[in-house]
Amino acid sequence: MCVSERYDLCAIGAGTAGFAAAQAARSLGKSVVLVSGPGDLGGTCILRGCMPAKTLLSSTERLGDVEHARDVGIRASEARADVRAIVERKRELTDYFAADRRDELAAFPLARGSARFVANVAIDVDGRRIEAERFVIATGSRIVPPAIDGLAACRPFTSDDALDMTAIPSSLIVLGGGPVGCEFAQYFARLGARVTLVQAEATLLRNDDPDIGAALETFLTHDGVEVLTRTTALAFARDGDACVAYLARDGERFERRAVRVMLATNRLPFYDGLGLETASVRVTARGIDVDAFLRTSNPAVYAAGDVLGRRNLVHVAAYAGRLAARNAFTPHPERADFDRFEAHAVYTQPQIAVAGLDERACRERGIAYDVRRHPFVDVGKAVVSDERAGFVKMLASVDDGRILGVAIVGGEAIDLVGEAIALLDRRATVTDVAEMPHLHPTMGEIFGRVAEDFATRQAPLPAPAGLR
Ligand SMILES: Cc1cc2nc3c(=O)[nH]c(=O)nc-3n(C[C@H](O)[C@H](O)[C@H](O)COP(=O)(O)OP(=O)(O)OC[C@H]3O[C@@H](n4cnc5c(N)ncnc54)[C@H](O)[C@@H]3O)c2cc1C
Repeated sequence: MCVSERYDLCAIGAGTAGFAAAQAARSLGKSVVLVSGPGDLGGTCILRGCMPAKTLLSSTERLGDVEHARDVGIRASEARADVRAIVERKRELTDYFAADRRDELAAFPLARGSARFVANVAIDVDGRRIEAERFVIATGSRIVPPAIDGLAACRPFTSDDALDMTAIPSSLIVLGGGPVGCEFAQYFARLGARVTLVQAEATLLRNDDPDIGAALETFLTHDGVEVLTRTTALAFARDGDACVAYLARDGERFERRAVRVMLATNRLPFYDGLGLETASVRVTARGIDVDAFLRTSNPAVYAAGDVLGRRNLVHVAAYAGRLAARNAFTPHPERADFDRFEAHAVYTQPQIAVAGLDERACRERGIAYDVRRHPFVDVGKAVVSDERAGFVKMLASVDDGRILGVAIVGGEAIDLVGEAIALLDRRATVTDVAEMPHLHPTMGEIFGRVAEDFATRQAPLPAPAGLR
């Protein structure tokens, strides 16, 4: 006879969202079980996403620094990448982070295997029956190859494979110009591959304003990446050792050849085999369908993380996991406020980081906004550090000067965006920012400059000759 285990909360998926849900429920005094798929423990961020990818990128960032050392008066002998050492370092650090997460997960009962709903509030995990008062589905996302003729014959690889590649292809076509595609295009280009990046939309980073993607295109081109925007991959074919991509741009057809193809197209929510119909959990084209409180069509089941099909980001997954678990046990649930968590980054060099609303979002919501852009070339620290490329763009409400969004393109963007997030969170105005102290010389002084641009309504000073 199969004996059921009973808990207050069962989180299906032990990645960022599931773990955050489990922690939040436990802090409410609830009994919690986590279900983790049969693979390694840790979730995408630690095992195959943010941490390993950024470890690799930090190596090619150093390579870029050495190559430009001459610009600041340092003559380094020729920099060469030891790809085996780069990948080995990534493996060691991933093991380190995964071990840390395993220790944290050890605080919870853990069911290993694939969960499948067998009733409204019961799942089966490889023969183990688990019942719970509430469930949080946090099964993440996966890469689904686009249906393009001949693509499979080219055996495209994904970011999962890229993390372990020690043999760098001499030439590479990257399909998809989102953050992952752009980061890996630069990574492989710096390791010596001839890279072509194919993006269907008019600019890279289709979820951002076009000027952000256009700036990144300039950076990647500088790294030797051939960026093909407005370009559709119609078909692929194998030709000996090479792959031929048949492409179309503005009605013109042309080809590109490469030894390998990387798929960096959309990740889609993953819920295969979960038996959602059995639990009456509805899905839409976007992902698992939830209301404003992250509750699915089954009132006992919540969902969080990439499986929602919103922004696939760790801080969003953690927030949603926490909120889903809290809402599951309160008579006064809180609405999910994803706007507050609207921030993302691209770990290219130079970097991109965006927080709050962009111009498109303002237009869609009918918000009257004003925008200013200030170049880093006008900031002393950027000049002395030779990080003059890029700009900060700030959007503010026409009505009250409240900051609506900030985009940073340039040197320390990803750390600078922390200040922008705090300003947005505290609903600061451009006047507040113009009056705030900033250490001198720091990259952060640019916030004061761009805020002053609103007050003076003046265009930024032109860059001194030679610094453009
Ligand atoms: C290359 C790459 C780089 C990235 N870089 C960044 C970054 O810099 N910053 C950032 O914020 N985000 C980044 N992300 C995105 C980030 O990793 C994800 O948004 C986040 O990890 C999603 O967390 P999650 O909990 O929703 O899913 P996951 O962490 O994927 O967890 C889902 C878990 O569910 C389990 N599971 C699935 N089905 C079942 C089942 N039936 N039964 C039991 N368990 C199941 C899986 O085994 C998995 O462990 C990156 C992603 C990739 C791929």
